[in-house]
Amino acid sequence: MNWLKKTLDFGQKIKRLLKKRPSRQDMEASDWTSCCKGPVLKKDLEDNLWVCADCYKHHRINPIQRFDLLFGKGNYQVLKTPIPPDDPLNFTDSKSYKERLKSARKKTGLNCSMVVADGSINNIRLTAIASDFNYMGASMGAAEGEAFLFAAQHSIKNQQPLLVVASGGGMKMQESIISLNQMTRTTLAINELKTNKLPYIVLFSDPVAGGITASYAMLGDIHIAEPGALIAFAGRRVIEGTVKEELPENFQKSEHVQDCGFVDTIIPRKDLPEKIGILLSILLNKKSEIKEDNSDKAPENNIENREAS
Ligand SMILES: [Zn+2]
Repeated sequence: MNWLKKTLDFGQKIKRLLKKRPSRQDMEASDWTSCCKGPVLKKDLEDNLWVCADCYKHHRINPIQRFDLLFGKGNYQVLKTPIPPDDPLNFTDSKSYKERLKSARKKTGLNCSMVVADGSINNIRLTAIASDFNYMGASMGAAEGEAFLFAAQHSIKNQQPLLVVASGGGMKMQESIISLNQMTRTTLAINELKTNKLPYIVLFSDPVAGGITASYAMLGDIHIAEPGALIAFAGRRVIEGTVKEELPENFQKSEHVQDCGFVDTIIPRKDLPEKIGILLSILLNKKSEIKEDNSDKAPENNIENREAS
């Protein structure tokens, strides 16, 4: 019966090989990713601004891809933000926080999940913040708080609007109360912007949750969302378990959140620069900027123009 055992073992081996799923590293190194119709070439997705041509899903993009899209490739300056000491509570769960930070930095090439840039849309200079979900789910800790405050200060110093592309799973549990404190700090920074009468625009990208929703993401003068983005505080299952009711299918998606009044407008990714440019022109009372192209003017001139208007 040895031949039968060998045949069965061989069959099991084939089964295991077929079942083996590619690792996350394999997926990241590959030219392919997946969407509604199965495998899709990353290059094809990129050519369509990382939006699926079949199901219209707006895939997550990193801060540099976001700034390229908003300002144009190389048309902006990434600003260096202060980084406070790592791991203030010396936290360890299944893995030490230091280890987690180390691998997030290796994976993304960033020091924290938030990146700040200075660029122009529709010839209006602004400060922008975007987060990288690949950096520990873009959750917020002291470093992200410092980056946010730095961006707000940069806006005030240069008297220019602040645009936040909100994204992230919430606050970093590894920093406990220190991360929760960033909710207060970001709120105070936004108050300063408002005291200075500077526009503060929030763009919700998938996903925005927890303390991020409960702080800076909900305090914009205008709330824009990308289609289909998850915007939540607690998770769907937690709420369903609490209220004992079945929730609508699009619950916590941009479209539903707009119906509830927390999102002003949903704008497809390809239209974002144009529409944000128009909104900023209106907020700054710069109607002439909507159609005029003064891109050959130096930024200093632009500031003078704005102050004169
Ligand atoms: Zn798709």
